[in-house]
Amino acid sequence: MADYYDVLGVSKNATQDEIKSAYRKKAKQYHPDLNKDDPQGAAEKFKEVNEAYSVLSDETKRKNYDTYGSADGPQGFGGFGGSGGFSSQGGFSGFGGFSDIFSDLFGGFGGGARTSAGAQSQARDGSDINSTINLSFNEACFGCDKEVKVTREETCSHCKGTGAKNGTEYKTCSECGGSGRVRYTQSTLFGQMTSVGVCKTCNGKGKIIKEKCSECNGRGINRVTRTIKVTVPAGIDDGQILTLRGEGNSGINGGYDGDLMLKVKVAKHPMLERDGYDVKIEVPIPFTTSILGGKIIIPSLEGKLELTIPELTQTGTTFKLKGKGIPVLRKSSRGDLLVTVKVEFPKNLDRKTKEAVKTLDASVDQTQYDKYKKYVDKVKNL
Ligand SMILES: [Zn+2]
Ligand SMILES: [Zn+2]
Repeated sequence: MADYYDVLGVSKNATQDEIKSAYRKKAKQYHPDLNKDDPQGAAEKFKEVNEAYSVLSDETKRKNYDTYGSADGPQGFGGFGGSGGFSSQGGFSGFGGFSDIFSDLFGGFGGGARTSAGAQSQARDGSDINSTINLSFNEACFGCDKEVKVTREETCSHCKGTGAKNGTEYKTCSECGGSGRVRYTQSTLFGQMTSVGVCKTCNGKGKIIKEKCSECNGRGINRVTRTIKVTVPAGIDDGQILTLRGEGNSGINGGYDGDLMLKVKVAKHPMLERDGYDVKIEVPIPFTTSILGGKIIIPSLEGKLELTIPELTQTGTTFKLKGKGIPVLRKSSRGDLLVTVKVEFPKNLDRKTKEAVKTLDASVDQTQYDKYKKYVDKVKNL
């Protein structure tokens, strides 16, 4: 079992005032009604805090605890429920002025915080909406303005989300006074037990609708299909997510609106291939062009370009056209266009051509082939 002093976060010689103030803080922190995310875990902690306080706030029990490690004194002497003693009863009861403190802590819910606390207690953030956005290759490269259709839940504009006709036809819940919460008091063996819960009369809304809004049938929200304008930044790639803050489902009772998350789908370019911010293309060139040089036409993001192939260009050579690639997302720079040439031979050689190539072959010195010569030498010496 955790040390009671640790549970409250006070020193061994804390004064009663310090203990009381520490307890208030902790009790508020772990109150199950204020920990909707993890009510179970909070309830456990809450119980611990109450146990600790029940002992440390009582000088006799505290002394016993300090001396014997138990509020009941030496084991077997007195005590409430046997070996576990008082602490095993858990919960919180009238001991040590619990009720007073709870009035302090939670009494305010029905008072000054009448409407806002009630509304906040029911505030719910709108959920995100996941959808896709389809882009052409060039739209993704250079960015664009697009429209997407999305069906989402929106706060009813006719009743301002109240669910009541004109937003006015409701009255404050008399059961909870509009706070949406009520305190339940129960008599137990150990005294009065008080807990705070959601008001059942109004389901925690704090108000009762007299006449429903016909537009949303009292729900306060409507399902609406909207056309949303999307500014697509240049350089976005397939599979990335565009997030539009607050364009998801509406929050309820002051909760935040969800986001619209658009998964980007980019169509393939008929010829160019994207690689990060570079674009690549493999271009076949006639073997005569690779020998004699020449000009070839290549596609680019900005239309067709002419590329000069120098004479004696080896197959597999890559030409880098700087800055002809894709704009880098949210930067002014651009990737490159990489053109790799592959030498292609004619399917047939007629006699005349064959003779010409023979003449060519005879006229080229073997030493002119750098890599080939090295290779032949290596094989020889194997
Ligand atoms: Zn109520
Ligand atoms: Zn409505």
